[in-house]
Amino acid sequence: MDDRQFRTAMGKFATGVTVIATDLDGDVHGMTANAFMSVSLSPKLVVVSIGEKARILEKIKQSKSFSVNILAADQQELSMIFAGQIKEPREVVFDRLDGKPVLAGAVAQIACEVSAEHVEGDHTLFIGRVTDIHLEEAEPLIFYSGSYRALAEEKTVTV
Ligand code: FAD
Repeated sequence: MDDRQFRTAMGKFATGVTVIATDLDGDVHGMTANAFMSVSLSPKLVVVSIGEKARILEKIKQSKSFSVNILAADQQELSMIFAGQIKEPREVVFDRLDGKPVLAGAVAQIACEVSAEHVEGDHTLFIGRVTDIHLEEAEPLIFYSGSYRALAEEKTVTV
């Protein structure tokens, strides 16, 4: 099994797309992530997995808080901005939810405090205790096999 085969297999797991955001001393940093999962209902916990090379890693370690923004189908551009797929710097305005930076128009905004972190291989898993949630009625953005998609087949978009 090589790296390519592993990545291809993992890409067969269709997911939504999130932007993880954190505020460190008034400086907001975002990163696109699909390694997101609900962990527990009581208490309400989620997990995100952040690569060791990601600049946001140290920022979340220090701020001890983050938001998860589940992107809507019309927010592919935001995903590309926060994945570094659009190279030119763009100004993105963040709203606030329980003091955490959040993206307007996201299907769900989830504010979290870090309750635990675990280094596993080349990623760090942050367990987030959910402190607040805001929901919007919208279709989600989908990521599958390396491409952005929409729920309806005829809306498939390839980057
Ligand atoms: P940087 O390279 O520092 O930032 C990424 C981009 O966001 C830069 O262009 C930067 O200018 C911009 N940006 C950051 N903050 C702001 C701001 N406040 N205003 C405007 N622009 C800003 N990686 C993981 O570790 N875990 C995952 O689960 C994961 N899932 C992914 C899912 C998808 C669909 C994609 C496309 C990528 C995923 N990645 C994931 C990769 C990750 O998004 C990129 O490697 C990312 O660029 C690395 O983050 P960084 O903190 O180093 O970001």
